[in-house]
Amino acid sequence: MKNNNQTVIITGANSGIGKKIALAFGAQKANVVVNYIVDESSADDVVTAIKDLGGNAITYHADVTDLEACQTMVKTAQSTFDSVDVLVNNSGITRDNLIIRMKETDFDQVIDVNLKGAWNMSKSVARVMMKQKRGNIINISSVVGIIGNPGQSNYVASKAGLIGLTKSLSKELGLRGIRVNAIAPGFIQTKMTDALDDDVKAAYLQQIPLNAFGKAEDIAHAALFLASPKASYITGQVLNVNGGMI
Ligand code: NAD
Repeated sequence: MKNNNQTVIITGANSGIGKKIALAFGAQKANVVVNYIVDESSADDVVTAIKDLGGNAITYHADVTDLEACQTMVKTAQSTFDSVDVLVNNSGITRDNLIIRMKETDFDQVIDVNLKGAWNMSKSVARVMMKQKRGNIINISSVVGIIGNPGQSNYVASKAGLIGLTKSLSKELGLRGIRVNAIAPGFIQTKMTDALDDDVKAAYLQQIPLNAFGKAEDIAHAALFLASPKASYITGQVLNVNGGMI
């Protein structure tokens, strides 16, 4: 599974799952654009770690909800590294609440970052990848986008939307040699899930046949596979990485 010299843009790559995906591509000597929106020093640390692993990397500050910023990020990736081979739409936020208590802004913000952000980035790379006649887009969805979850109507709608986006774009871009897939992680240990109460975590664990929470590396391995030639006949799919939850 070699991803040598690929140029990979990863949104929200300074923490959690995105960081591990960035390091995994870095270890394969890829050129990585480490997108971040807050905490520049953590993004700098990811770049340093990638260079130590033998890859190449730059940080890029951009809000994925801003289409123009996404387009400029893609242009910068292309002018720095000559191509854009892989886009990983990883940025995501939660604003959990029951629908009767959820504010309209909580719904709008989550859809804007998680779904519209992925659309903005996909639109920005599509033309470049079409000209190259190759490319890979990987959307980080979620198990809850398939099975639903109480208190997360905004988040679940965004993650289910990402699956629809994946399937549509795979049909639209397949003829141009561009593959589009989603990964649906289960419960992965990151700061997003560390914030949950212990009883909520215990309830999740009971639903996992492998009796363990996932690691960010588990998602990184799935992303490396989907971006590699080993997955060259796979598009429009949702790869479940969830310890058997569904
Ligand atoms: P995280 O909070 O560490 O990562 C999210 C990243 O997105 C952060 O770097 C954050 O700064 C960035 N981000 C937020 N708003 C942004 C914006 N407007 N523009 C650019 N970047 C922005 O959490 P994580 O657990 O690593 O989550 C990564 C992805 O995996 C998310 O899409 C999340 O929904 C998904 N996911 C996580 C789990 C889990 O169990 N942790 C399960 C399923 C799916």
